[in-house]
Amino acid sequence: MSVAELVVTKPVLDIQNVKKIYGQGETEVHALRGVTLNVERGDYVAIMGSSGSGKSTLMNILGCLDIPTSGQYRLDGVDVSRLNDRQLALVRNRRIGFVFQSFNLIARTSALANVELPLAYAGVKAVERRRRARAALAMVGLAEREDHEPNQLSGGQQQRVAVARALVTAPALVLADEPTGNLDTQSTNDVLAVFDRLNRSGRTIVLITHEPDVAEHAKRLIRLVDGRIVQDERLK
Ligand code: ADP
Ligand code: MG
Repeated sequence: MSVAELVVTKPVLDIQNVKKIYGQGETEVHALRGVTLNVERGDYVAIMGSSGSGKSTLMNILGCLDIPTSGQYRLDGVDVSRLNDRQLALVRNRRIGFVFQSFNLIARTSALANVELPLAYAGVKAVERRRRARAALAMVGLAEREDHEPNQLSGGQQQRVAVARALVTAPALVLADEPTGNLDTQSTNDVLAVFDRLNRSGRTIVLITHEPDVAEHAKRLIRLVDGRIVQDERLK
């Protein structure tokens, strides 16, 4: 047996029978009705489902922004339910890179400074911060634009800056919620090309989308209906 085979790789995401109930009694909403899902390192998963099917609820739990009512969640081998708020904030900062539909960049602040921000929170020193932020911008094809502020960039370029910001901490997982929802076709293709490249270089990506064309880029497609996984299909 080779050394590589001896290294047991734990899944990046491991959720077991996760339920999420909002409200109580008469107004109870069962947003997730027992979701079990494993995502291995290097996978690229698209999650689809109609409005109200539980996509955002699942995303918030995966991103440690919310906790399940019941069930278990391990992120990169760590049982998230045992962590306090401060530890959860650390997990979000170190292990997860978020990309949102609305890029959420800081206005009147250069692309480089935007990308450096998560590293500043993580306490990385200025020189190292700059070096890593430049590398992340180069990875999304925006090395030439580091001094541009968000309003000097197209929507697609802004989203690529946001992707660079998500990557700069070398997270175990990139979580993207409708990342191309506000983009035209060309910009959508540019951003998806970046995700494709990241995944080829080994990044784990979980992406929520309404668009079948976008989901086609993923290696695995999961469909949610009414808080349950009804389809889990390997595409590539
Ligand atoms: P999706 O993102 O697929 O549209 P959501 O996860 O946002 O679905 O919502 C799933 C269900 O949970 C819906 O019925 C929604 O109304 C309900 N829901 C979501 N968030 C809350 C909340 N904070 N309080 C009460 N109900 C909620
Ligand atoms: Mg939603």
